Amino acid sequence: MKRRKFLAKGAAGAGGVAAAATIGFPAIAQERKEMVIVSSWGRDFPGLGISAQRLAQRITDMSGGRLTTKYFAAGERVGAFDVFDAVASGNAQAYVSAEYYWKGKHPGFAFFTTVPFGLTYNEMGAWIFHLGGQQLWDELSGGFGVKCLPCGNTGVQMGGWFRKEINTADDLKGLKMRIPGLGGDVMAKVGASPVSLPGGQIYENLVSGAIDATEWVGPYNDYFLKFYEAAKYYYYPGMHEPGGFVAMGMNKSWWEGLPKDLQAIVEAANVMECEIMMSELNAKNGEYLARLVKEHGVQIREFSDEIYESFGEAAQAVLEEASAHSDLANRIYLSFLAARASTGAWLKLSDVNYSIKRNTVLGI
Ligand code: CA
Repeated sequence: MKRRKFLAKGAAGAGGVAAAATIGFPAIAQERKEMVIVSSWGRDFPGLGISAQRLAQRITDMSGGRLTTKYFAAGERVGAFDVFDAVASGNAQAYVSAEYYWKGKHPGFAFFTTVPFGLTYNEMGAWIFHLGGQQLWDELSGGFGVKCLPCGNTGVQMGGWFRKEINTADDLKGLKMRIPGLGGDVMAKVGASPVSLPGGQIYENLVSGAIDATEWVGPYNDYFLKFYEAAKYYYYPGMHEPGGFVAMGMNKSWWEGLPKDLQAIVEAANVMECEIMMSELNAKNGEYLARLVKEHGVQIREFSDEIYESFGEAAQAVLEEASAHSDLANRIYLSFLAARASTGAWLKLSDVNYSIKRNTVLGI
């Protein structure tokens, strides 16, 4: 009797453990997910590429491997500009890229990277996180089966490298400049001839005189491309890409099937990377701006107010053309305008004015 009781208890006990194991183990196994990330950046590309690789690793680390990322740089699995379709079709779970590459699918996408006379990093954050930007982005990308989050930023880019000085708006006329996207459309409206060239072909075209000017990113990225060997005048500030957000786009149904805690981990990892990338570029751009001047005699020049006025007029026309595409494009444009006006007015008298006053007093 005693023995039967013991056996029964033992069996129940063993059964309990076995039951826990059979319930527990498959539950964990089901939650372990793979996240294939395809990127538009080359492997180890300074700034953008390294940032995306760091983000992929962080998602694996933060989730304790429950969401294990497999990262593919441009060309390793799909081409740089095929990442959107790979994710929308479910062949990959996520991409890291710039939304303005998809403006051929819908012009509204440009606003979620950056547009001429657009928002700075701080202003973009205010719009996306607090002034309705993310909801409009969800509506736009959701129509293609994609869910997007910001995951980095280039900050205000430089205006570009010029072989000769640009003193008046007339000096822009007929100028052959490598500048892609809506920035190129603005340059066309002020009389320049925008040219589209991949990064690897800019240097030779500048050296041969096939182009008169080019933009790229900022001092840190530009330093290594040696544009200063052909064009000594380095103009600021760029009107064309003032706070370019990098985005992670995910397959929407895959995203919606993720457990809430894994969604929160992906969101947190992305927000963290925005800060890390932006602060890294601010740190390195300052250092490399000084090196360009000291080591290579680069001449830093400011665009005149007259030139900026002509850029502003042209940019407004370009953005209005984009907004005329559809009801959604127009709603994105109007929301962007409202965010630019209110956040711009606040930052003008806080961050912007403080920096100007402090630097004037200290001679920075
Ligand atoms: Ca650029």
